[in-house]
Amino acid sequence: MRIDYHKWRAFKDCPKKFHLQHIKKEPVTVPTNDYFKLYGVLTQRFFQMYCNIWRFKTPYLFPEIIRERLEKLYRGVLLASTVDWDAKGVKLTEEEVLEQSYASICAIMESQNQNYFLNTKSEITIEIKTRNNDVINGRIDFIHHPPTSKDIIIIDGKGTETLGKNIDKNQLFFYALLCYFKYNIIPAQMGFFYYKFNTFAPIPIDVNSLNKFRAELSLDIKSMTEGKNYPATPGTKACRYCLYKDKCSEATKIKKKATSKLELDGDGLVSFGF
Ligand code: SF4
Repeated sequence: MRIDYHKWRAFKDCPKKFHLQHIKKEPVTVPTNDYFKLYGVLTQRFFQMYCNIWRFKTPYLFPEIIRERLEKLYRGVLLASTVDWDAKGVKLTEEEVLEQSYASICAIMESQNQNYFLNTKSEITIEIKTRNNDVINGRIDFIHHPPTSKDIIIIDGKGTETLGKNIDKNQLFFYALLCYFKYNIIPAQMGFFYYKFNTFAPIPIDVNSLNKFRAELSLDIKSMTEGKNYPATPGTKACRYCLYKDKCSEATKIKKKATSKLELDGDGLVSFGF
């Protein structure tokens, strides 16, 4: 089996979700809307091009060049996306998403944080074969090489609205482990770069924490590849973002439980699930 971070995360969230998505490959029951990823994908794409191509010719990009290139990238991103601009939760127009990304990129490129994207490679794919012939693989957003040392810094770009929300530090441990097996080096630093906040948030790493993660991952891989049953482990967060929730009986159970509690506590006029 090929195991990347997202497959492993699905298993951790709920083995049933993992089974439906990655073993049975069932069609999802919730319509996808790429609107919520547009800003992050576009901004990420810009820095990917900057790190891998543009910086070699012109490390400093004038705002008008940034805009021109970003508009071109945006057309490609929109073509590859499915966006429902009328869906609940959609706050920005197509144009406003572009402007938001443009403002973030200009702020980063005019600040010291531009350094994170210099001496940096983007979208690095690493594959490791296990003794059981499974493959652990991952695509790392950025690997930065500080100019004065042989260290590496792993950076994962985030387009989230809130600092620290919906992030999983194990994503970085997953990539750090891949780097360790591939390059025999433990990253000197790893962290999330929040585009909207022009902020790098480091996550501590050392040999012990990496070993602990490695033990957890190898146990999970055993269960993922040898497991004969994949029980549902419903949880508010896991179910909220699950693309199978509309037809999942376990998710419904949570909904009923949450609803009945609210009805008991209240006056019976207001009831809602998650
Ligand atoms: S809706 Fe919840 S319980 Fe059902 S598969 Fe998804 S995460 Fe698991």
